[in-house]
Amino acid sequence: MTKQYDVVIVGAGPAGLMAAKTAGESGLNIALIERKKDISWVRRTDAGIIALNEYIYGQIVTFNRATQTLVFPVAGFSVKYEGPWNDNRYGFHFYSPGGKRFKVGDWAELKKDPVKNSKGVALSKGKLLEGILAEAQSSGVEYFPNTNVTGVAIQDDGITVETNQKNFQGRFVVAADGVNSRIVRALGLNKQRQFSGTSCYLTRVMTGVVPPEVEGILFIMTMYGTFSISQVCDKDHYHVGIVTNDPKDELEMLLQRFTHDDPVFSPWFRNAKRVDDECCVVNTLQAIERPFYRNVILVGDACWSYQFSNALSLTAGYHLGYALTRAFLNGKMNEEGVAQYLEWYDTQIYKPYGQLPFGGGNLTQYLTAEELDYLAALPAAPAPSTASFTRVFHTILETYMPLSERIKEDHPAILEKFKAMGEDMEKNLEEKKKAGFPNK
Ligand SMILES: Cc1cc2nc3c(=O)[nH]c(=O)nc-3n(C[C@H](O)[C@H](O)[C@H](O)COP(=O)(O)OP(=O)(O)OC[C@H]3O[C@@H](n4cnc5c(N)ncnc54)[C@H](O)[C@@H]3O)c2cc1C
Repeated sequence: MTKQYDVVIVGAGPAGLMAAKTAGESGLNIALIERKKDISWVRRTDAGIIALNEYIYGQIVTFNRATQTLVFPVAGFSVKYEGPWNDNRYGFHFYSPGGKRFKVGDWAELKKDPVKNSKGVALSKGKLLEGILAEAQSSGVEYFPNTNVTGVAIQDDGITVETNQKNFQGRFVVAADGVNSRIVRALGLNKQRQFSGTSCYLTRVMTGVVPPEVEGILFIMTMYGTFSISQVCDKDHYHVGIVTNDPKDELEMLLQRFTHDDPVFSPWFRNAKRVDDECCVVNTLQAIERPFYRNVILVGDACWSYQFSNALSLTAGYHLGYALTRAFLNGKMNEEGVAQYLEWYDTQIYKPYGQLPFGGGNLTQYLTAEELDYLAALPAAPAPSTASFTRVFHTILETYMPLSERIKEDHPAILEKFKAMGEDMEKNLEEKKKAGFPNK
């Protein structure tokens, strides 16, 4: 007879692991199913950066360097971490095609006091996950690696999770299977979600990369692609990546051109060595408003529009773990039982951030290389530091808005082109959608 679990959790990423650990510690009977053989082996691009010391989605994280503990004071939990780390994260630098730089954060100044000023710590994601898994297992969570979930069947008194190994039965099922979630698709929940494109990433892990400063994330805009460079946790290791919204783009060839042939940027890679490659394909679908469907609960990237982040996925898993505990304590194995998690998701996450519009368009489609060089070099001083992808757009706007008169005098065509880009937003979004594959 199939064993009946209190909760079957699909996916041992940060969200699923944290939900398993939290509910397992409370004594619930948990099966945690993961398709990978070894979760410490991370192949899907992820720089392992945990943003620190600033509020993102209403949450904040600090890192105690002495004890190697991530502390989540808003949610009220902490996570021990045993592995390499590096907290050289002071913001973003944006490069134009000619190598001019717009700085978000004065890194030379900020790095004088890393404890106060660091905006992020790069960890080994594999080691972070392994540590949480060990804690979950020591609380009795039963772990099933190398097990691929293929479907779910919902009955009145429970749910069957079908896998390539055997079936699992649970009173609740947690879909923590990440972006492009198979469970969300199998339940038909993607059908109502607005699709806004497919992003393809190729990331090369390299040593010996020497840009002028690399104590943060570099975005490099060239006329043939947008690249990023970021230091990861291992000494002298960097992620050098390209992202595009057109699955037909030849990422390998474009990355090769950037690191070998670009007259401005290839000198940074003269002595660089390729260590490894990571990649991923991510569909952008509108966030799900209510992450609950007949006792299947969605958490982390599975219900979000894009990247929830490791920190927020841990936080969501933590809230869900306790909500599940309360459901069993109160004898309410239903939607009302997990209201604590649904309420948190609704008020703290979905309502403030879940309905942000997706823009279309790429600056290099509109501006020339010379115009981009002019803009990058224009601000007289670095903008205030942030490592938040949402906040940085406001920072850019706040920097350039007061300069609009000057831009109008120097390069009137630039403002006209920005106007055209704004008008073309819908058209560009449609093109992005057409190039992608929604896979609903
Ligand atoms: C290019 C890129 C870079 C990123 N860099 C960062 C970063 O530096 N810092 C940061 O905080 N966030 C980063 N993110 C975001 C971060 O990776 C995610 O938000 C986070 O991993 C989401 O956690 P999750 O637990 O919801 O899902 P995931 O981490 O994706 O975990 C899902 C798990 O489910 C398993 N699974 C999937 N399908 C099945 C199935 N059918 N059966 C069984 N198991 C299954 C997967 O193997 C995986 O282990 C990045 C994302 C991208 C795309």
